[in-house]
Amino acid sequence: MEKVLIIGSGAAGCAAALSLSEAGVPVLMIEKAKEIGGKTAAYGCKAGDSCTQCGVCLTGPLFTQIKEASNLEILCETSLKELIREENGFTAILENVGEKLEVKVSQILVASGFSHLPVGDSGNLRISGTSAILYGEQLESLLKKRTSDKVFDVAPKNVGFVFCFGSRNPAHGVSYCSKVCCGYSTRSAKALKSIYPDAKIRMFFMDLQSVKAGNYLEEMRNAGFEMIRCRPSRIEASEHGAQVYWEDKEGIHKKELDLCVLCGGIRPNEDNTLLAELMGLSVNEDGFLETVLASEQTGVWTAGCAQGPMTIAETVADARVKAARIIQRLKKEVSA
Ligand code: SF4
Ligand code: SF4
Repeated sequence: MEKVLIIGSGAAGCAAALSLSEAGVPVLMIEKAKEIGGKTAAYGCKAGDSCTQCGVCLTGPLFTQIKEASNLEILCETSLKELIREENGFTAILENVGEKLEVKVSQILVASGFSHLPVGDSGNLRISGTSAILYGEQLESLLKKRTSDKVFDVAPKNVGFVFCFGSRNPAHGVSYCSKVCCGYSTRSAKALKSIYPDAKIRMFFMDLQSVKAGNYLEEMRNAGFEMIRCRPSRIEASEHGAQVYWEDKEGIHKKELDLCVLCGGIRPNEDNTLLAELMGLSVNEDGFLETVLASEQTGVWTAGCAQGPMTIAETVADARVKAARIIQRLKKEVSA
């Protein structure tokens, strides 16, 4: 049997690769970066006083098991350069650390994930003269390294989370909701509160997506978080770090913070246009990948956040479903 080519080794790529390899389907997984794991490999546990169901636990075992899986070859620092459709599959031309490789594959699963707004990009905010800002993914890395009593070198006294950073703003070219940032920001806030119980933590939010059953807004308020419904417009340097400004019908408001977390969301992978061209996929109005014809017909599949914002749990589930459908399709081919 020819291999299934998986493009991307994040949560979606690894979940699909494991399911295929467990079913005896040979897999070649390629990854542009030097290491497998994608973005989620750098995410930290967001347990506060108890587990907050952030989903990061789902990925740890995947990244370990994948290294021991049979029928599975992983090539890092590798990207797809050309794809030639054949009668029974494809010839893929890959570039691995400057060298060209040619492989025959039966099916292709695109699990190329997403991008963040780059650190330093001020997105929909006016930001001036302050270093008291952390991007969501930077806080993730700090949470990954945290000890039982420390995330930062200096204990923060006033922390603010600015929701919808780089999302839900047609003026900035992104009108969709990223779906995941309400969850990771409120969970991160709970983790910080458990380590720094005296810190005042404010959430500047426009809308709160469903994170768990029940009245989550009320739960956050009862847990001691100040929930301020607004859309901040600027952040300026202040004596203690940063001042966050927003405006409503009562006028201009500001709050003093010594740490401000910008809760960035999920942006399309910058390679999506190229991948779509190579594989006969389309790019939707938000920049994510879509199949044009049924994957059972074309042999080209998509999984995870390459298709749009998804939580970790949704990503892993989607990848397993796609792997199951690929297995079914291959079984049909064998029995035909
Ligand atoms: S908070 Fe997340 S990483 Fe931590 S134990 Fe719960 S699910 Fe796992
Ligand atoms: S998930 Fe929440 S923070 Fe993220 S874009 Fe949607 S509403 Fe805004």
